[in-house]
Amino acid sequence: MLKLFNTLTRRLELFKPINEGKVGIYSCGITAYYLPHIGNMRQYVVQDLLKRLLIHNGYSVKHVQNVTDVGHLVSDADTGDDKLRAEAKKEQKSMKEVAEFYLNIFMKDMDELNIIKPDVMPKASEHIEDMINLIKELENKGYVYKADDGMYFDTSLFRDYGMLTGMDAKELSQSLMEGARIGKKEGKRNITDFCLWRFAHGDEKEMIWGSPWGKGFPGWHIECSAMSMKYLGEHFDIHCGGIDHIQVHHTNEIAQSEAATGEKFVNYWFETNFLTVNGAKMSKSLRSIYTVSDVLSKGYTAMALRLFLLSGKHEQTLNFTFDALKDAQNSLDGIYAFIRRMSGIKRSGDEINEVFMREISESAKSFFAAVEEDLNLPEALSAMYSIISKTNQRHESGKLSKKEADHIIEIMLDIDSILGLRLSIQKEESALSDSAKNLIEEREAARKAKDFEKADSIRDKLLNEYGIVLEDAEEGPTWHKKAKGF
Ligand SMILES: [Zn+2]
Repeated sequence: MLKLFNTLTRRLELFKPINEGKVGIYSCGITAYYLPHIGNMRQYVVQDLLKRLLIHNGYSVKHVQNVTDVGHLVSDADTGDDKLRAEAKKEQKSMKEVAEFYLNIFMKDMDELNIIKPDVMPKASEHIEDMINLIKELENKGYVYKADDGMYFDTSLFRDYGMLTGMDAKELSQSLMEGARIGKKEGKRNITDFCLWRFAHGDEKEMIWGSPWGKGFPGWHIECSAMSMKYLGEHFDIHCGGIDHIQVHHTNEIAQSEAATGEKFVNYWFETNFLTVNGAKMSKSLRSIYTVSDVLSKGYTAMALRLFLLSGKHEQTLNFTFDALKDAQNSLDGIYAFIRRMSGIKRSGDEINEVFMREISESAKSFFAAVEEDLNLPEALSAMYSIISKTNQRHESGKLSKKEADHIIEIMLDIDSILGLRLSIQKEESALSDSAKNLIEEREAARKAKDFEKADSIRDKLLNEYGIVLEDAEEGPTWHKKAKGF
């Protein structure tokens, strides 16, 4: 029974899909004009966990995540340049080239972090027609007015404006002004009004389209409404994003979508909190903005970063430090070594100790119960570590049977279908080649013949050339492959 904290109701709610067995998810994707950093990647890793959990629970999931390649203006107040247009000018490239460059890096980072690719990744620039139609609909219903630089949405006409924030329109305006996110602007009827269609300036040529209101380009907010409703329907299950979008972007998405359709837009709003670095907001001046490749180039693995990014509760901030990442790397290496050790258990016999296996399956149940409770990862991970430590104890006392080990691997792989730490690769890689098998037998013979020098040299060879660690036990040697870790 999955429970999610819903920003809309500010409560933990039991998840119920609109259509039985199916879930539609929309994620606000990147605005492709800068290098994505690990703070951006946190929300996509957390959303990936949510998606994997839904798949694990038997739902057929349709996941849509847009790419903003036009229309995202520099400020929340809909003033200033298009972010991508500004970057293109700076880099002396076309907007298309800029968007492609950063999107490629983002896709590579998603791959590195083992994030399942969304089913649809619509680009804003390829859905202009859908956005124009949506604005026309809003215009027919009387929500649209013209200002100097574009067509605007009149937020005072939408009764529940700001519902996602828990504030009424007046309180929200006040809060935005105080946060300096939005100020008064000439020609705007209300502080919270936002641009649906921005008129082209004289020198703007690229990413400019004709429309009933003249040449120009769409606003950022209308993009997400048009593309989510196109692919998921006018009413869908889960909308994801960062908490920084609650007051403006997501609030505006709700207003324009519900104003156009007259129906509820989204049932569950799932927002992920920020990643801080060394306890502070990431910042250029503190040089505390790290990308995935920065982390990899320091020798950490992408899966250790994934494990770290998953380690907090999604509605709380998570603090990144290299010490914390090092801990995550050590934990991951430990998990990998465990899987390899379990795959190498040779002890024959079919015995299953009921009491032991019951304890293990209790811990597995605790893992799933914790993730179903609004993705409580700290608790879920501690349940998984208890499976590992209980099993290691049994293994060290020489009691673990092959059958038990096989069963535990199955449980760990089931857990990993949600965590996505690529544990199955550890299992596959732990299979031995024939030459390694022969060496292990040769060494065993040498050991029995008390030729310890030869036995030791074969043992070194196995470690250095095959990465195989031998552990001598009463019933014969066990082995595992060294994890390619830190
Ligand atoms: Zn969006």
